[in-house]
Amino acid sequence: MSGILIVAEHIRGVLADSSADLIGAALAVKEKLGGPVRALVTGDLPRFFAEALNRPGVDEILLAQTDNANFDAAASESAAMAAIEKYEPSLILLAHSANGVSFAAALAVRLGSGFAADVFALDVTATGLRATRNGYANKVNVELDFPGKSVVTLTIRGSTFKAPDGRGSAAITTLPLRLEGITGRYRHLGFEEAPSSDIDIGKAEFILSIGRGIQDEKNVPRFAALAEKLGATLGCSRPVADSGWLPKPHQVGLTGKVAGNCKLYLALGISGAVQHQHGMKHVETIIAINTDANAPIYNVATSGCVMDVFDFAAALERAAT
Ligand SMILES: Cc1cc2nc3c(=O)[nH]c(=O)nc-3n(C[C@H](O)[C@H](O)[C@H](O)COP(=O)(O)OP(=O)(O)OC[C@H]3O[C@@H](n4cnc5c(N)ncnc54)[C@H](O)[C@@H]3O)c2cc1C
Repeated sequence: MSGILIVAEHIRGVLADSSADLIGAALAVKEKLGGPVRALVTGDLPRFFAEALNRPGVDEILLAQTDNANFDAAASESAAMAAIEKYEPSLILLAHSANGVSFAAALAVRLGSGFAADVFALDVTATGLRATRNGYANKVNVELDFPGKSVVTLTIRGSTFKAPDGRGSAAITTLPLRLEGITGRYRHLGFEEAPSSDIDIGKAEFILSIGRGIQDEKNVPRFAALAEKLGATLGCSRPVADSGWLPKPHQVGLTGKVAGNCKLYLALGISGAVQHQHGMKHVETIIAINTDANAPIYNVATSGCVMDVFDFAAALERAAT
């Protein structure tokens, strides 16, 4: 058992960003765990995605041809099993996405492998692979070892690993697949559009995020204007999105987006509940503004000030003009 298998995803003819995250995760442990890194892509036109998967560090791209342009969990599981039986990787990486989680556990059971979901850090210790995920409703980070397991299957949290840019020199191999009786178990009914937004919290480097501390919907435009002036992306806590003050794509946290690329996070009137922290506590520099000195946001903030958000906004507005 050696090497790493990445199970890539695509939707509507575009390779999912999570596939690049998986390459980043594989490369984070490739040297210590041992290569090669193989990326599997399944679909009716798998070759179409080979170019996008061909990043530096990927050794081989495996194409699994099915007759379905859309995601099919049974076909994806069969393709992954075929690749695993042929190449015997010691680590299998899937995205922690609706598609990935729909067959990752089944794959792990079939293999009798170790398994962990929603992993956001990887290491290799003297005893083997170590994966880190959250536990107890995100209150603690849990480091998991897999004693006695020669194979481990993981789903990887989005935007937590980065693939190198540039073009690799991966070989391309078409995988022989037998899918009789496999395809057709799932039927793709259609796509339901999420509300459109030009916001991408996962990619933003500077986020100015607002919480219930801004008091009222009528104050949102003031903070939106401030964010624009400062060149920040406007984020928010869940109550702000749930109340319809901002569209859902602005929400940071467990049921929102992870600020995976963020270097500076300005939390204005946000208490810092664990579910919010899920999306931002890893950020390098967090500045919190809250009138409550005991607010949990100060437990993760790099610096902060116990003051009124409106006074803070006024000071920034003056400074930014
Ligand atoms: C399953 C589940 C999933 C969840 N997912 C998410 C998620 O993805 N993202 C998320 O954010 N939450 C999520 N939540 C909700 C979360 O538990 C909190 O309720 C939420 O984060 C609180 O939002 P808030 O900080 O804006 O509001 P509050 O907790 O009400 O905090 C408002 C803060 O503003 C401060 N404040 C008030 N007035 C001022 C002022 N004038 N100046 C400065 N500070 C002021 C207060 O001191 C307070 O700390 C989830 C909850 C559950 C159960």
